[in-house]
Amino acid sequence: MLADVLTRLEVPFETEAHRHGRSGWLQICCPYCDISNTKYHLGIQIGTNRSNCWRCGPKYAPQVLAMITGQRIGVIQKMLPTGSFTRVQKATGTKKFKLPYASGGLQQAHKKYLMSRGFSPNITSNLWGIQGIGVSSPACSWRILIPIHKDQRIVSWTARAIWDGEERRYYSCEEAAEIYPHKDWLYGFDHVQDSCIVHEGPLDVWATGYGAVCTFGTSFTPAQVKLLSKLRRVVICYDSSPDAQQRAIELGNRLEPFPVEVINAQLEIGQDTAECQQLPGGSAEIQQLRELAFSF
Ligand SMILES: [Zn+2]
Repeated sequence: MLADVLTRLEVPFETEAHRHGRSGWLQICCPYCDISNTKYHLGIQIGTNRSNCWRCGPKYAPQVLAMITGQRIGVIQKMLPTGSFTRVQKATGTKKFKLPYASGGLQQAHKKYLMSRGFSPNITSNLWGIQGIGVSSPACSWRILIPIHKDQRIVSWTARAIWDGEERRYYSCEEAAEIYPHKDWLYGFDHVQDSCIVHEGPLDVWATGYGAVCTFGTSFTPAQVKLLSKLRRVVICYDSSPDAQQRAIELGNRLEPFPVEVINAQLEIGQDTAECQQLPGGSAEIQQLRELAFSF
């Protein structure tokens, strides 16, 4: 279906055999960052139409194709409905895993928070399957539900407060109820090929885009180190605070015995990529970070 649409629109594409390709995705040239029109950095996932450029980050597929073809976006939206990540089924297990009560679509308050942090509610929910929690148990009320996927299945979740100043910024699925312990996994790792950027939290991952992961805080587990140790290149990008940088150095040391190339990157603009994306020059700095990790 996606291949048919691209063919009809006369947009050249490459398949997984291409060096930027991967299974289940088609690659096209990115209209935002590829002036030469030869690089095929931008992938669109077959089935969901989620889209991401290895160089400049997440995209909205109909918008991209409208830019390339000059067609109206509404015409392309009809040809290419964007699937939602939230339809991905939960992993089956014996445990009583469930999403928090009252989770569903993003409500106005959630959208407002996301926009205030520089995120598009539509793109972020499409790429990461986030949902809004309304009035629920006091711990979870009015948070953004962040499902944690492993092998395309939801195995756990965390939920972020939408008011800064909230004492407990993240509230996570109880360990006993998780299908897979989230601290033994890396958020975003499903989208990693052979290199990645490691952040502290999910919002940094959203700001950087596919290929970025987070350790859920600056503490990391041996299982997380093991996942990273098998990659070709790991760019660690924790906050620029002294504490976080100390943890970044420790993570680098733990990876030292393995053949993976490790780079510690400190942002010049902002504490983290979520903050960086909202400041002047921030998107260029995030693009540089992506290039550091993904251009070989
Ligand atoms: Zn791009």
